[in-house]
Amino acid sequence: MLPKSDNIAAIATAPGRGGIGVVRISGSNLDDTALNICGTLLSPRKVVYTSFRDGDGEVIDQGIALFFPAPHSYTGEDILELQGHGGPAVLHLLLQRCLDLGARLALPGEFTQRAYLNDKLDLAQAESVADLIDATTSQAARSAMRSLLGEFSRVIHQLVSDLIDLRMLVEAMLDFPEEELDTPDIERRDAKLVSIRKKLLITLQLAQQGSLLREGAHVVLIGQPNVGKSSLLNLLSGEEVALVSDVPGTTRDVIRQSIQISGVPLHIIDTAGLREVQDTVEKMGIARTRSTIQKADVILLMLDAGQGMQEEDRKILAELPASTPRVYIFNKIDLTNEAARLESLGGEDYIYLSAKTGIGIDLLQKKLLSLIGWHQEAGVFMARERHVRALLQAQQHLDNASLESARAELFAEELRLAQEVLNTITGEFSSDDLLGEIFSRFCIGK
Ligand code: GDP
Repeated sequence: MLPKSDNIAAIATAPGRGGIGVVRISGSNLDDTALNICGTLLSPRKVVYTSFRDGDGEVIDQGIALFFPAPHSYTGEDILELQGHGGPAVLHLLLQRCLDLGARLALPGEFTQRAYLNDKLDLAQAESVADLIDATTSQAARSAMRSLLGEFSRVIHQLVSDLIDLRMLVEAMLDFPEEELDTPDIERRDAKLVSIRKKLLITLQLAQQGSLLREGAHVVLIGQPNVGKSSLLNLLSGEEVALVSDVPGTTRDVIRQSIQISGVPLHIIDTAGLREVQDTVEKMGIARTRSTIQKADVILLMLDAGQGMQEEDRKILAELPASTPRVYIFNKIDLTNEAARLESLGGEDYIYLSAKTGIGIDLLQKKLLSLIGWHQEAGVFMARERHVRALLQAQQHLDNASLESARAELFAEELRLAQEVLNTITGEFSSDDLLGEIFSRFCIGK
């Protein structure tokens, strides 16, 4: 436990009206607070139905009070939870009462930060709390929960532990000149490195999938009016529209809609704004659209199967980044009596479908998922850009190590750096880790 910190309070439920609203306080010595508000001391983890009173003894609300004494609570500190009615005014009165009794307003994420500081969660788990709350698809929520349960952290811990094993071996070998080293030791060292690199690669792939679930992919949809863009988006959204309407870092005028396919959020970028304009404000909007398009993961060009590509389509297409994967959608095949199909030619894909009848839509869904790199449906844990970056850096250090097998010091140093960067994922970086680990694994008397 860290030194005792001040008491923090916040309304824990979402703003607005609801059946129930919760005010939460975390800190130390909450007995007085409970006594003042509820008129009674609370037994640990027992539900009490009670009145919540203000400083004059007047009843603010009636509800349920719960007390979780340290260390068996979310934050590892004493926690008092007051569950009342979910109206903004009544909840603010209750929150104010807590502040009057000496608590201060909690900062964003401060409960979870305390949980991390008190070793209730590691850093990756603490991050997944936010990811679970922010998840916009059920698939994203499930993978965030897996990270919160520690699945991701366990994999990272295993990698770190394997690295420590290897480092122990390598550091022991450092004491001997190269020519005196045992061949079995060298083989063991190389085999261990190969195995760690394999595990790291699998972890990286899972994390990249998790990051995709969290961030989603950006798809540009181009097409002349009436070609069927809205119909396609409606069909793709189905019942399960992703619960986001715009995307951080972009502006409303750029993003048209967010949908999801198999739980992966796709942010559809509108190109309607890419026309010639004089107005300065509109020009700024267009500049933003262009820069968003540059970063898109996939470009969809929608055409009327009966008419094919038009001059306007060619113009827009010519402006788009050549390296971004493109899919040509020939819509309205119900009118041309063609079969739904996918044709791939010269690295580009042509899909024939009908946004009205729905035939061929599955071909588009599968193609989109594969183009954005989604292939893993089971066992994905939620990961962030930060985690993916750390794993990539660790991979780089292991690659470097494999090239330095003749120079033991450099080899050892690359392993140390790989471990250090992996530790940043779970937030357990400490340069003394290795020594403690080595000695704790020694048998007594050696
Ligand atoms: P947008 O302007 O590109 O968004 O096009 P809409 O989605 O609004 O569609 C324009 C018209 O084409 C509407 O009347 C749609 O019902 C119709 N439409 C869209 N897709 C198809 C299709 O696959 N087959 C047929 N027959 N009509 C379609």
